Amino acid sequence: MAVQLPDAAAKYAEGTQFIGGRARPGTSGRRQPVIDPASGKPVLEYELAGPADVDDAVAAAEGALPQWATATPADRSEALYRLTSALREMSPDLVAAESAQCGKPVRLCEEFDVPGSIDNAAFFAGAARRLDGMAAAEYSPDHTSSVRREPLGVVGSIAPWNYPLQMAAWKILPAIAAGNTVVLKPSELTPLTALMFAEAAREAGLPDGVVNIVTGAGPDVGEHLAGHPGLAMISFTGSTPVGRRVARRATEGGKRLHLELGGKAPFVVFDDADLEATVHGAVAGALINSGQDCTAATRAYVQRPLYEAFVAGVADLMASLTVGDPADPATDLGPLVSHRHRDRVAAFVDRARAHATVVTGGRVPGGDLAAGAYYPPTLITGAAQDSEIVQQEVFGPVLTVLPFDTDDEGLALANDTPYGLAASVWSRDVYRTGRATRELRAGCVWVNDHIPIISEMPHGGYRASGYGKDMSAYSFEEYTQVKHVMSDNTAVARKEWHRTVFAL
Ligand code: NAD
Repeated sequence: MAVQLPDAAAKYAEGTQFIGGRARPGTSGRRQPVIDPASGKPVLEYELAGPADVDDAVAAAEGALPQWATATPADRSEALYRLTSALREMSPDLVAAESAQCGKPVRLCEEFDVPGSIDNAAFFAGAARRLDGMAAAEYSPDHTSSVRREPLGVVGSIAPWNYPLQMAAWKILPAIAAGNTVVLKPSELTPLTALMFAEAAREAGLPDGVVNIVTGAGPDVGEHLAGHPGLAMISFTGSTPVGRRVARRATEGGKRLHLELGGKAPFVVFDDADLEATVHGAVAGALINSGQDCTAATRAYVQRPLYEAFVAGVADLMASLTVGDPADPATDLGPLVSHRHRDRVAAFVDRARAHATVVTGGRVPGGDLAAGAYYPPTLITGAAQDSEIVQQEVFGPVLTVLPFDTDDEGLALANDTPYGLAASVWSRDVYRTGRATRELRAGCVWVNDHIPIISEMPHGGYRASGYGKDMSAYSFEEYTQVKHVMSDNTAVARKEWHRTVFAL
């Protein structure tokens, strides 16, 4: 099915800042293109936000806060159900825009990005009515205690380019379901679907100012947002180095912080695993979204008896995939997000070539694909565990495979990077997988699979992959604060406990 991107220039004629319920141009005086990485051609050129736009967006969010924070859970839930419907109606445009700005295959957008975001909206519409606390009770005989779970205030969110719509959904939905208002800064490379999300919120009748989008650059607008005194919290998803910078800005001002950072997920294959399942799982897990996925399988560790067959199977399957036009339903892999990022990925592989074996892929394609930011599925063996290609986040369609002998060794190698976002283990033995799920240091461990996510379950990292959870009811821990209310129930003026302060 061919998808047609709406005329972006006409659609965003009023500007790409969405503040207080209306679109307007940015005030930075600088322009930024949105490039279709499949062709290298611009889809839109827009005026970047400046710090003044951030100030206005925070003011709009502060203005909307009292009404939204005190709306009943049922009213917020109802609004989010309407938002779910508005997103569903917008699906074809969301698919087209996401594919055009990221180069994602339409198949991926239709079957993953867009339905996943809609499902998230539906989940948080329901969850808005289930903000649980402890039961009210007399934990002291003289008092009744209860817990109120309250919104924080205005939340500033900063998002990456790899899943722009899903990131907007993951950041905005739990925050507003809990009664906060939001200012989101999407990546300047990929602002279109976050803006469409805000339009859907307006169509759904969410009050103006509950959802605001500033489309600006990281170093000025992102930094200004991270340090803004009007915000109660910064929720950041992106790379580990930028996240640490944002953390310094945010914590200087005493804000709550939520960090979803980079990953380098291991894929551990024990020798009793189903070989066909591991080969298909590794290729799918490594290549989803052209490997630009924070949980992508990047390091496969395979127990020696299966190693040769695994490498041969992965190489064959990778080589059989179709890299090409994202609009073609037969395409498996589209381009990377930009030529600059493609060149970064290619440079990683070129440096690895000096000390490791590139089994398949590893060359920038020419011919029909030369104009786009394409890179082929790439398999690398023989790299050292402490080498850059094994340790650092490449964020492209590149999988390294290393052998191991004992279970102890496989798990130790899997844990041997600073990251801890996701991991998978492959075996038919429940005791081996049980041990691995306990010992792998990551926020998500899959057993005999790699990649699936679900709205009801938390997503978030350990160690250098950050902290805090997206999706699921756990995200309310991030976007709410808990108040203990303790009421005297004796009506006695001279209370027993006063003896600890003055003699009666
Ligand atoms: P990035 O860190 O370069 O940028 C992320 C966002 O931060 C963008 O909006 C960018 O404009 C902004 N930014 C850049 N410099 C800034 C600064 N100084 N102050 C404030 N904001 C600034 O990341 P990216 O290249 O857009 O995305 C890829 C990264 O995101 C990868 O590392 C990937 O693992 C990570 N990621 C993590 C998760 C997760 O859930 N843990 C999900 C998706 C992506």
